[in-house]
Amino acid sequence: MEALIPSYNDPIVSILLLLGTIFAISVLAYAYSLWKQEQKSKELIRFLKSFDSKECALDTKSMPFEKGMAKPLFLLALAYERSGEYSNAIDLFIYLIRHTHDNSILSHLALAYQKAGFLKRATKIYREILHNFPRQKEVLYELEYLYEKLNEFEKAKEVLEVLEAQGESVEKEKIALEILELKHAFEPMEWKFEQILAIYQESQSSLALRELFILNPKRAWSYYRAEEFTKLIDILWKLKVNMLDFDIISKNIPLQQLYFTKGYLESKPNGSSALFAVDFLASARAAENESGELAFIYICQSCKHSFPLSFLRCPNCHKVYSYKIEVSIEESKEQSGNSLQ
Ligand SMILES: [Zn+2]
Repeated sequence: MEALIPSYNDPIVSILLLLGTIFAISVLAYAYSLWKQEQKSKELIRFLKSFDSKECALDTKSMPFEKGMAKPLFLLALAYERSGEYSNAIDLFIYLIRHTHDNSILSHLALAYQKAGFLKRATKIYREILHNFPRQKEVLYELEYLYEKLNEFEKAKEVLEVLEAQGESVEKEKIALEILELKHAFEPMEWKFEQILAIYQESQSSLALRELFILNPKRAWSYYRAEEFTKLIDILWKLKVNMLDFDIISKNIPLQQLYFTKGYLESKPNGSSALFAVDFLASARAAENESGELAFIYICQSCKHSFPLSFLRCPNCHKVYSYKIEVSIEESKEQSGNSLQ
C-alpha cells in the first residue's frame, strides 16, 4: 500500500511541488498586478470626474470609442491646444484618458488647463501625476512655477526642496522665489531693500542686484560691480541724472562711455565699454550726432525666444532669469518725433 503513495523524499515529487509553487505564485502575482491596474484605472476615472467640462462644444459623452481613434484624437487635441482652443483640447484629453486609461496624457491635460488659466486645476493634476510618479522632474518644475503664479510661496519652496533632494541645482529658482515673495510683502521699500541686499550679499546674484537698482538706485550704486555692466545695461541706461553716483562712474570707463552717450558727461572718455552699440553712439555723440539711442531685446538662453521686456520667468519656457540682453541702436524717440513734424 505504501508503495502506491508517492514519498516526499521522491525527487520527482519535490520537483513537481516546486513547479506547482512557482506556478501558483506567478498566477497570484499576475492577478495582483491586474487588480492593481484596475484600481488605478478606477482611481483615475474618479479623479477625472471633478474635471468634467460642461461648457465644451464637442459632444464626447455620446461618442463611441475604438482603439484606432486614440492617436488621431490625441493629435487633434494637441492641434486644438496649439491654436488656443483649450476647451476642446481639454475635453478630448479627458475623453482619451477615460477610455485608454493612459496616465501619460495627464500632463497634457494639466498643460491645457494651465494655458487656459485654470491654474488650480492644473496643480491638482500635477499632484496626481506625482502621486504615482514622484520623481518626474519636469512635473515638479511646472508645479513649482504654478505655486509661484498663485502666490503660494511656501508650497513652491517645498517643491524646490524635493527637486534639490533629487540632485537638481535650484539656487537661481530659490533666489527668484525669495525676491518675488519679498516684492509681494506689504512692507516699506527700505525693508524690502535690506532683505534683497542680504540675498545679494550672500549669493552675489545679478538678479538681486537688478532688484536693488530698481528699488533704490542711489543706494544700490554702493554694491555695483564692474562685471555686472552688461547684465544691468538696460537699467543703467534708463537712470535719470539725479540717480547717478559720479564718484563710481568716474572710476569706470564703460559707465563713462554710457553716460557720455546719454549726455550726462561733458567730455568723451578714452577707452572702450566692450559693447559695440555704446562705443558707436559715444563716437557719434563726440561728432555731434545725437540721433541714436540704445534699444534692448531680451533673449531667453533656454528656448531662444526674444522679448521686448525683461522677465523673471521666460514667458515661453518658464525658465528663471534665463535672458541675455542684446543691445542695439535705434533712432532716438525725440529725433523720430521731430522728423514727423
Ligand atoms: Zn525661454
